[in-house]
Amino acid sequence: MDWDSPTTKKHIAEAKAQGCELLGTGRDGYFRTYRLPCGHEQEIQPGAMRVGRFQCQTCFTSRLKEEAKSQGCTLLGAGDKKGNRTYLLDCGHEQVILLQKMRTGAFRCKTCVVNNLKKEAELRGCELLGAGKDCHYRTYRLPCGHEQVITTRSMRLGNFRCQICLDTKLNEEANAQGCVLLGAGKNANYRIYSLPCGHEQEITLANMRGGRLRCQICLDNNLIEEARAQGCELLGSGKDATYRTYRLPCGHVLEVGTGAMRIGQFRCQVCFDNKLNEEAKAQGCELLGSGKDANYRTYRLNCGHQQEVGTREMRTGSFRCQTCEEFFYTLPSNAYLLHIKVGADEWLKLGYAKDVDFRTTRYGLPSEAEVSVLATMPFDTGKEAQVFEQSLHKNHKRKRLPVKEMLNFHTGSGATECYPVTMVETLLAEFKNAK
Ligand SMILES: [Zn+2]
Ligand SMILES: [Zn+2]
Ligand SMILES: [Zn+2]
Ligand SMILES: [Zn+2]
Ligand SMILES: [Zn+2]
Ligand SMILES: [Zn+2]
Repeated sequence: MDWDSPTTKKHIAEAKAQGCELLGTGRDGYFRTYRLPCGHEQEIQPGAMRVGRFQCQTCFTSRLKEEAKSQGCTLLGAGDKKGNRTYLLDCGHEQVILLQKMRTGAFRCKTCVVNNLKKEAELRGCELLGAGKDCHYRTYRLPCGHEQVITTRSMRLGNFRCQICLDTKLNEEANAQGCVLLGAGKNANYRIYSLPCGHEQEITLANMRGGRLRCQICLDNNLIEEARAQGCELLGSGKDATYRTYRLPCGHVLEVGTGAMRIGQFRCQVCFDNKLNEEAKAQGCELLGSGKDANYRTYRLNCGHQQEVGTREMRTGSFRCQTCEEFFYTLPSNAYLLHIKVGADEWLKLGYAKDVDFRTTRYGLPSEAEVSVLATMPFDTGKEAQVFEQSLHKNHKRKRLPVKEMLNFHTGSGATECYPVTMVETLLAEFKNAK
């Protein structure tokens, strides 16, 4: 080395500027040997020395050794790239670890981790086979012999079961019910099956196991058929599982219980209301609304008063206006005895009324009936007329004609106070005696 050459003098000056000292030649013409500020000797290219781009390898290595020691490890040598080294870990295993990770202690012995997973698998009667889809999963051989990917945590907790064995079991359970397992359901408790009827349906595992299968499609088809048999049409669901919405034979849409539909035990409320309306109209009345129970409705009566009347009484016309009746009690009235003749039939009719002629029009007698008044007796009030009439009934009730027969003639009212014509003298005598 020519210490006097201008190049060497330049290298000496450049080294001095970096706090270093040029000591001599290097391994080849590109390198020189320097003493660094730390006192260690090292070969460096003069160009790197000039710009200060160098590091003491001896100091750096002793720092890495210190860092390893502080993590309980030993630096063994180079790794497979610049940024890592091979270390002996405190567990006794060797591992290549990034310098940064060794410095911060952010590493684990991979051998120990694998050994641990193997041990955990063994405790569950399984065998660790290899990697899973990510760091949380591994591939295991289960006790049944099947391979399956399971999280390491599930393996640790024994929280797993063989999907292949499960499917086999579910298949067998389905076959035992005459069904076929087709695939997954909406969650782990459901599967899609083909039922014995051929329809596909989602059913819980427990219901399949217990044979509690009901094909919704067949059930619906059944309800459609049952409705059709009643002349109805199934339109859709009802207020609960036992009800459906139907179109009835009359055309009206109504919710009916499926059981009631099956046996035809239903009626159209709209049509029924229409019928009640017609019946009321036939009596000169008007249906206004509901009554105290299913047998009653509120009507405007032919007198104009509003009153609840039984639908049956409205149909037969056998109702009385209580308001009119009350007025009637306090107004003058007449007890009367009538002779009624319809063809070969004739009988006597006892009663009281404000207007005898009007009263007879309410009896609903056949049009050919001949009515003649045998006797009348005026009273100051309807109440007194009623007391008189009732006393006559009391005296002669054994002679009274059967109401059931008289209803054949008295289709409107008045069937209850009829007597045979043989009673004419007796009853006329009662009227006479009262005067
Ligand atoms: Zn050094
Ligand atoms: Zn280890
Ligand atoms: Zn299995
Ligand atoms: Zn079916
Ligand atoms: Zn209807
Ligand atoms: Zn009235």
